[in-house]
Amino acid sequence: MSQLRQLFLRRIAQTSDAPISLEIARGAGIYLYDPDGKAYLDLIAGISVSSLGHAHPAVVDAVQQQAASYMHTLVYGELVLSPQVELAEWLTSHLPDTLDNVYFTNSGTEATEGAMKLAKRATGRSEIVACVRAYHGSTQGAASLMSDDYFTRPYRPLLPGIKHIDFNCEYCLREQMSIINKRTAAVIIETVQAEWGVRKPRPVWLRALRQRCDEVGALLVFDEIQAGIGRTGSLFAFEQYGVVPDILLLAKALGAGMPLGAFVARKALMHHLTHSPVLGHISTFGGHPVSCAAALAGLRAMSESGLIDEVEHKGALFERLLRHSIIKDIRRAGLLMAVELRDFEQVKAVIAACLERGLITDWFLFNDRCLRIAPPLIITPPEIEKACSILLEAMDAVCAS
Ligand code: PMP
Repeated sequence: MSQLRQLFLRRIAQTSDAPISLEIARGAGIYLYDPDGKAYLDLIAGISVSSLGHAHPAVVDAVQQQAASYMHTLVYGELVLSPQVELAEWLTSHLPDTLDNVYFTNSGTEATEGAMKLAKRATGRSEIVACVRAYHGSTQGAASLMSDDYFTRPYRPLLPGIKHIDFNCEYCLREQMSIINKRTAAVIIETVQAEWGVRKPRPVWLRALRQRCDEVGALLVFDEIQAGIGRTGSLFAFEQYGVVPDILLLAKALGAGMPLGAFVARKALMHHLTHSPVLGHISTFGGHPVSCAAALAGLRAMSESGLIDEVEHKGALFERLLRHSIIKDIRRAGLLMAVELRDFEQVKAVIAACLERGLITDWFLFNDRCLRIAPPLIITPPEIEKACSILLEAMDAVCAS
């Protein structure tokens, strides 16, 4: 074992007994490289983050220029910083008019936290409705939204007043309508339920949710932290459903590889954070200028290259090529894919066989029977063919052993 890996295991706090512990020397495009120069085709893009691949020149250039100009200046929201302002202007000019004001955070979880606080403050209510098997983050507020007892039990008490409905169940929604009522501050849902193994909602269900929220005065929050920024074939996943939320959550791919999240709402709603109490939500590093400069460069590069228009076609190619007797199902939203196998043991074996062959894949937090496929969006059709042949070879090897 290399000395660095030994130190990693000794000094870096671990979150499982079996970290991948692959040593990374550099990244370029869709590949990560170890110190011996072995290339690993990155099929998960840092969990739907590196959509432009690794070390995209426009992003690297923006980071270098911004770092040389200024980095941290003062706590969030006090000074006029052009990377933040220009990024907020870019985002809001690509969103419906009712989403015209941006609060930048460091992460997705913090975007969830900010939205939960904003909803409570704006409505004067305390209950929040989330979906079964949703993931909105890991801090105690966001983790309170989890339905899975296994992940939350040791951390109780968490937030009171959290209720759950089933995801994408129109029949259940009618049944569960009373859960969303005049005590509800917000209903929060993922526009693709990612960690449950990629489940897309039907527009009719989203419309019913929107209608119920309007009836009772609850805010509708869409979490696009994983599904947003081109991943599902449109800049924002919700564009495909024709339903607009009151608050939109972004992170992951937003920062183009730098840490950045955001919650977006209409200005009048966001204004609640300025009074009673003043400084309703604060952050030292939220909207870091270097992260915002990277994000803006990434978004411009993505929209100028027409990359998002290619997502559906590339996703469909994966789906066509991935034919194997051990694959039970494939669920897909653009280039976010869950490939369902027999069980966790089989998934782990395929992941290990892929790693040996120079390909990185993973499973999902709430679904360990599925392989995660979420490559950088820059992946080309020949590279997709290569990735699929490695995956199929790994599946053959697992079958043979
Ligand atoms: N919401 C969703 C849908 C996510 O997928 C994630 C991260 N996996 C989060 C929230 C939390 O984001 P972060 O890890 O940046 O805090």
